[in-house]
Amino acid sequence: MLPSASRSPLPSKTLITLLLPIFRHSSTAAALPMEVTASEETLRSNLAEKQAAVEAQAEAVRKLKAEGAEKPEINAAVDALRALKVESSAVARCLQTVISNNGGGGAGDREAFRQAVVNTLERRLFYVASFKIYRGVAGLYDYGPPGCAVKSNVLAFWRQHFVLEENMLEVDCPCVTPEIVLKASGHVEKFTDLMVKDEKTGTCYRADHLLKDYCKDKLEKDVSLPAEKNTELKHVLAVLDDLSAEELGAKLKEYGIVAPDTKNLLSDPYPFNLMFRTSIGPSGLSPGYLRPETAQGIFVNFKDLYYYNGNRLPFAAAQIGQAFRNEISPRQGLLRVREFTLAEIEHFVDPKDKSHPKFVDVADLEFLMFPRELQMAGESAKPVVLGEAVRKGTVNNETLGYFIGRVYLFLTHLGIDKERLRFRQHLPNEMAHYAVDCWDAEIECSYGWIECVGIADRSAYDLRAHTEKSGVPLVAHERYPEPIEVEKLLITPSKKELGIAFKANQKMVTEALEAMTEAEALDMKASLESKGETEFQVCSLEKSVIIKKSMVSIHIEKKKEHQRTFTPSVIEPSFGIGRIIYCLFEHCFYTRPSKSEDEHLNVFRFPPLVAPIKCTVFPLVKNEKFDETAKIISKSLTAAGISHIIDVTGTSIGKRYARTDEIGVPFAITVDSTRSVTIRDRDSKDQIRVSIDEVASVVKEVTDGQSTWADIMWRFPTHSVSQADED
Ligand code: AMP
Repeated sequence: MLPSASRSPLPSKTLITLLLPIFRHSSTAAALPMEVTASEETLRSNLAEKQAAVEAQAEAVRKLKAEGAEKPEINAAVDALRALKVESSAVARCLQTVISNNGGGGAGDREAFRQAVVNTLERRLFYVASFKIYRGVAGLYDYGPPGCAVKSNVLAFWRQHFVLEENMLEVDCPCVTPEIVLKASGHVEKFTDLMVKDEKTGTCYRADHLLKDYCKDKLEKDVSLPAEKNTELKHVLAVLDDLSAEELGAKLKEYGIVAPDTKNLLSDPYPFNLMFRTSIGPSGLSPGYLRPETAQGIFVNFKDLYYYNGNRLPFAAAQIGQAFRNEISPRQGLLRVREFTLAEIEHFVDPKDKSHPKFVDVADLEFLMFPRELQMAGESAKPVVLGEAVRKGTVNNETLGYFIGRVYLFLTHLGIDKERLRFRQHLPNEMAHYAVDCWDAEIECSYGWIECVGIADRSAYDLRAHTEKSGVPLVAHERYPEPIEVEKLLITPSKKELGIAFKANQKMVTEALEAMTEAEALDMKASLESKGETEFQVCSLEKSVIIKKSMVSIHIEKKKEHQRTFTPSVIEPSFGIGRIIYCLFEHCFYTRPSKSEDEHLNVFRFPPLVAPIKCTVFPLVKNEKFDETAKIISKSLTAAGISHIIDVTGTSIGKRYARTDEIGVPFAITVDSTRSVTIRDRDSKDQIRVSIDEVASVVKEVTDGQSTWADIMWRFPTHSVSQADED
């Protein structure tokens, strides 16, 4: 378990009643014990005062000695100095306590807890470093058998909870993506992190991470930090995402930050594109990238998906797949890797109507939300009723709110602890200029609060960008009840003339002409009327062509319109599956003493839904009849679709329970007769006796979630646990 301080950190400005004695310094150095209520800021300035007083008194002692003062006078001054030092260190201790309670402390406990979890995960092959026999590659991991099973359970539930329940259209697109797609999305130009290099060894670091580590370290460990410096460092952390390469470089220099491994000087920060570049086909003429997200595959298919959906909005498309990011210096295990599974939803909606018919289903949910006002006031996340957050406008619209609620239900159903899950709104400086509102589902683990799901209203940006680049209008239509009369600029390309001039490229030129904005079309009309021809950029051809007057007619017409044409907005929940799984591992892990209390046994308290194996079958003793019964039970479990293992090793039953508790198997069937068996629940260690014929259906009932263990306990006789049962 994590220490409680790190589970519910207090905000930096929270006032804490300190019961530690604090001494107020007087001119006579008399010490008055007092109970105070002090904030971090107050304590910092208090400490600064104490330290100045210590300095002044030390100087006074030196002076007395230099002047050859009487011994009693010197002794009195030395005593006063000692008293001042005691006061100063008492304040320093209080400050350290407050910093710890604010979330900065307990680093050692967190590290030890993480080590215990990670050791178990690696030893039981949940995951391991990839290519280990060749010393591995940073940021690449393999899932072993139980890890694969957990991952596939999480993904199966994701499909059930989102794709199935919301009638989403699932797609599966290639990882290799042509450059033009990622140019349109902005990734080629902007998907960068700022990097610095060790000037001597060339080792690369993420510049913002070095600055962040420096600030956090100082804030957590340096109790003598003056109040202004403390405010400054907190401010740097708040604006970290906003700093330009120059500003970041200046800060690294100002704070004297050097390469962490060698203490060598660092280069200036410069942008590094995180995409893995490749070329498609043998010629090397067609550049491409491994996709950094799955979303673009959905956007480029919008037209077909809209048609598939009967030309109706809203609808959502979903995709699960690998994403690749060449992280500069991957760290934190599964949390920052170079290849990971993303599960993304693109929900397309009319920008004029972002209501959601099923919002009522989630409106009453109450959970921790961290809107930007609270963040900027230095406060912590608070429980908020989702319906209220949308009604007050804290969350921009119902559809965004609906997905926040659904993500909350998804994560908590998997086994994520409600108390360590919060929804944090992006600060204005974190959001892209086109985004309307963004919230991250953050889960607290031993590394702190980790963004696991991003939920963003991205407006119409993505579809517009691909419309512009491809020349294919990615739009939707709304039919009017009655046609309305409008003045309309009509662009009518002459397919015949364009066909003669551009042959195979005719279609792309036609589409580009039709996709012109009103201003572009009016410009073209003016040029064609004055010069008879004009140059025209066709993005999909990546070149300009000459358009003649005969090739297109542009004029304004009064027209009856039957429908409105618009670019849909998109609301995007994006799930980092590996991050969710890692946090789940930490939230489910605990240790309990063995019966003899001489060792600690590891347990993963996975809900049956995600448990890698749903039950084990143990013949109590090596015996042909019991082995035969175990085989019969195994057959019925297989027929019921329940993953299980038979453990026929003759080791004690307690040892076998401990072994399966460690991989989170929720139920163990012990065969101690040929007619009935016991079923043991991992968490309570309670056992019930069930007949052989019923055992598979009972296990299925609890693992499918139709009944709880408590329900089952009512229906079957309990089995008293013998001394030998649990080790
Ligand atoms: P983003 O597109 O950057 O918002 O990322 C979407 C989600 O992917 C995040 O919420 C994370 O859960 C996950 N993610 C992003 N980068 C990584 C990474 N390097 N390793 C593992 N998961 C990541």
